[in-house]
Amino acid sequence: MIKKGIELLLDFIYPKRCLLCDELYDTDYTGILCDDCRTQKIHYNRIVERKINLHYVDECHGLFLYEEPVSRAIVALKFNNRPDKGKGFGSLMAEYVKRNIPEYKQAVITDVPLGKKRKRERRYNQSSILAKQMAKELGTEFLKNTVIRIRETKAQSTLGSRRRIENIKDCFYVVDPAKVKGRIVIIADDVVTTGSTLNELAKELKKAGAKKVIGIAAATSDVP
Ligand SMILES: [Zn+2]
Repeated sequence: MIKKGIELLLDFIYPKRCLLCDELYDTDYTGILCDDCRTQKIHYNRIVERKINLHYVDECHGLFLYEEPVSRAIVALKFNNRPDKGKGFGSLMAEYVKRNIPEYKQAVITDVPLGKKRKRERRYNQSSILAKQMAKELGTEFLKNTVIRIRETKAQSTLGSRRRIENIKDCFYVVDPAKVKGRIVIIADDVVTTGSTLNELAKELKKAGAKKVIGIAAATSDVP
């Protein structure tokens, strides 16, 4: 009774807004998207194919196409201090995993580590928020500080596909290989474009003994 009262009060103070378009809405079955956004063609919801660099990634899945209004929500998550957007995408990603990746019950989940400088600028790692939310809803382990970024890199979005591979090369390090050895590892990321970052991280996880690496991204985008 008290819990219900608190929920009603919170709904009053913070009325629910759609993750993607920010419109106030009643609620759909997920409580995350408005009906308009749920029925738009921006849903991708399938295995990402033909990405340039996914040799070490066994499967890569994407939820949306990186276009309006998804792109705006992701930009808000990455650059405008909106970690709440990460929780919304993370919940949708968990919902997708439950339906499409049955191995998740044996898997562990990792983020894509950010360098210290970039993390300071953004205040948080957007991919950690996605990964933590997924882990919470799936009841799987989140690998905290198991992989780190050992050098700063330029933002991949500023580079073409060839330079993305060089930029990201050997920048990850698995601190605690015992955590991934023989395991299925799911990497949560915001956007997959060429797949270079995901592939580089998967390479290190495989070197550390991971049995299988599955990537899942909130959105998938073409190389600019
Ligand atoms: Zn909407």
